[in-house]
Amino acid sequence: MENNFDINNLVRENVKQMKPYSTARDEFKDFDIADMIFLDANENPFENGVNRYPDPQQGSVKEVLAKQKFVKTNQILLGNGSDEVLDLLFRAFCEPKKDNVITLPPTYGMYGVLANINAVENREVLLSDDFQPQIEKIIEAVDEQTKIIFLCSPNNPTGNSFSDESVAYLLQNFRGLVVIDEAYIDFSKKDSWSNELDEYPNLIITQTLSKAYGLAGIRLGVCYGSAEIISVLNKIKPPYNVNELTQKRAIERLGDTEKIKAEIESIITQREKLLKELLDVKFVEKIYPTEANFILVKVDDANKRYDKLIAKGIVIRNRTTQPLCDNCLRFTVGTEQENMKLIVALKEIN
Ligand SMILES: *Cc1c(COP(=O)(O)O)cnc(C)c1O
Repeated sequence: MENNFDINNLVRENVKQMKPYSTARDEFKDFDIADMIFLDANENPFENGVNRYPDPQQGSVKEVLAKQKFVKTNQILLGNGSDEVLDLLFRAFCEPKKDNVITLPPTYGMYGVLANINAVENREVLLSDDFQPQIEKIIEAVDEQTKIIFLCSPNNPTGNSFSDESVAYLLQNFRGLVVIDEAYIDFSKKDSWSNELDEYPNLIITQTLSKAYGLAGIRLGVCYGSAEIISVLNKIKPPYNVNELTQKRAIERLGDTEKIKAEIESIITQREKLLKELLDVKFVEKIYPTEANFILVKVDDANKRYDKLIAKGIVIRNRTTQPLCDNCLRFTVGTEQENMKLIVALKEIN
C-alpha cells in the first residue's frame, strides 16, 4: 500500500461534500447542567425518564468502551446493532452501481444483503477447504473500484478465526478498507485487532453487545477505526441512532465485568463439553474447530436431522445451502441444561 494512505480517496463524493446534520443537542451540548431550561428541541417537558432526546454522540458509553478497549473515544462509532454500522460503511464509501466489495463465503449473510440494498457489487471469493481466506484469489478479485474487504473472524457459520498472516497481508497490501467483524472475539483466545488501530489506517473493526455481552435485545453495535474514518461515519449516521434505554443498559452491563467474564467462561466450558459429546453422535461426520459460541458439524443428512430436532423441540440452524457447508448444522452453545437436552435428543435420533 502507498505510505500516504488518504481516507479522502475512498469517501463517496456526495459524502465528502456533506456537513453533519446539527441537532439541538449538538448545538448546545452541556445538557447535564441541572439549572438550564431546555426549550430547544420541542420535547415534552414532563419528566418520565425518556422524555428528552438521547446524547447523539453517546459520550458516556464511549468513555466506558474507550477505557476497556484501550482506544480513544474519537476512534469509536456506535450503531443500532452492527448491522447499522456495516450499512453506514457501504453508504460512506461505496458508490452505488460503480464500486464493489469483497466477501468470503461461507460467512455472515448481512454483508451480501447490505451490498444488494446499496446497489454495490459483492465479489464473493470462497474460503479454502479449511475456511481460511484465499489471499491470491482475493487479490485477483480486487480492482480500482474495490472499496472494502469484509473479514469475519471468528467466522460465522464456520467458527474458526482467520490466520494473523492473512489478515496482516490484506491490511498491508489492499489500498481500500479492511473490515474485521469481531462479533465473536470474546469467545476466542486471539486478541482483538483493535490493538492495531494505530498501525493500519485502513483497519476497521466491528463488535457487538449482542453475543458475549448478552444484550441482543438492546441493539448496540460498535465500530473502531481511525479518527478520520469515524468522523466520516459520524457525518452520515442518523443523529439519534442509539436510543436512551440502550445507552443506559449498555453502561450498566459494561460495568459488570466480572459477571460478563464468568458467563463467557461458562459458555466456553460448555462448548468444550459439547464438542466431546458430539464425538459419540453416530451421524456426525465432522466437527469443525470453533473459537465462537457455536459449533458447526457435518452430518449424514442435514435436512433430516434438522427436522428431527425440531420435532424434539430443539431449534438449531441448518446451513446446508451455504457454500462449503453441505449437510452442515450450526449449534449455538446454550446453558448446561439446554446442551444436555440437545445431546440426549441427538442420541435419540441416531
Ligand atoms: C450476530 C452477528 C453480528 C451481530 O449483529 P448485531 O446487529 O450487532 O446484533 C455481527 N456479525 C456477525 C458475523 C454475527 O454473527
